[in-house]
Amino acid sequence: MSKLLDQMNELAAQVSVCRDCMLHLTRDKAVPGEGNVRTKILFIGEGPGANENMTGRPFVGQAGNFLNHLLEIANVRRQEVFITNVVKCRPPSNRDPLPEELSACAKFLNRQIELINPLVIVTLGRFSMARYFPLQRISAIHGQGLWVNDRLIIPMFHPAAALHQPSLRSAIEHDFSLIPGYLEQAKERFEPKPEEPKAEEKPTEPEEPASGEASQLSLF
Ligand code: SF4
Repeated sequence: MSKLLDQMNELAAQVSVCRDCMLHLTRDKAVPGEGNVRTKILFIGEGPGANENMTGRPFVGQAGNFLNHLLEIANVRRQEVFITNVVKCRPPSNRDPLPEELSACAKFLNRQIELINPLVIVTLGRFSMARYFPLQRISAIHGQGLWVNDRLIIPMFHPAAALHQPSLRSAIEHDFSLIPGYLEQAKERFEPKPEEPKAEEKPTEPEEPASGEASQLSLF
């Protein structure tokens, strides 16, 4: 097993027994996140819901099915990316996470970002967007990729919000369709194409033999 995978598994083990905020009292299973630890794209949602709390996996159930549909639009396979949340334990009755819960849990997400080191982060919903754009409204900046500390951050509506408000559905589908273009943009910034060789380094064309030489060669 690779060192990176070991580190991610160690972090997941810490999350599963964490008691650093009140959410540990009401959880069944903590949900550290899952996916490809070597991904270039990290998705950050809000917090586990009822199905996630039961299974210990992020984005299962209805919102998970819709996320799978959105990933297809983005031409991304779910197993290629990593998916997690800003809080790893379910807020009771799906209430919003409290500031002290967000603050207590931030160390785990920070470490995940540090280890995965993605080129692109897609935030799903208000709470993950607020990590990067605390003063913005999601309705104003959804779908816009913005550079923050050398990462391309793309705020998106939360898939569950689009399920509850059908008018958001086409907006989130459109936003996901932009992901391949943003990923290319991020790759070009950090993985520049090899430079064209300079003029003097370009291989020179073999010179045409002088007519005499050509006629001499043709003699053999
Ligand atoms: Fe620990 Fe985060 Fe769960 Fe709170 S939400 S108990 S900080 S893992």
